[in-house]
Amino acid sequence: MTSSRNYTLKCVCGETFSAKLYDIINAQKDPKLKEELLEGNVNVVTCPRCKKRLAVDKILLFHDPDKELMVNLFPKSLREKEPIIRKELEKTINEKIERGSLLNEAHEIPTYMRHPKIVFSIEELAFVIQEYDKEYGKDYDKKFRE
Ligand SMILES: [Zn+2]
Repeated sequence: MTSSRNYTLKCVCGETFSAKLYDIINAQKDPKLKEELLEGNVNVVTCPRCKKRLAVDKILLFHDPDKELMVNLFPKSLREKEPIIRKELEKTINEKIERGSLLNEAHEIPTYMRHPKIVFSIEELAFVIQEYDKEYGKDYDKKFRE
């Protein structure tokens, strides 16, 4: 599932405006959005007054079920808090697994989701995605040759 919302933003010129920003991107459902992300055009807005382009530093969850990749992007300002963020994420995941095992649904949380990947910039996110694309390509070639 891909999810977006309208956010109120304030430009350095003082203008306040509303823009649609993404919270979750599912690359399988929205391959075009993944391309936009790699081009650096996701969660980037233009101020209607001064026309300045603003890259919004916000939380984004990127999920590519095809390639078994899930990455949590957090604002740069939280980089120092990575150990705390990781702990919190793992706690949430473990709670989900526990609930799932009570309901016999533990199999619904794949292994790759149990160990969260965390990045603090859209550039790092793009790098991880591209690395996975390369790896996936290799595996695919291997399987194809065997
Ligand atoms: Zn402006």
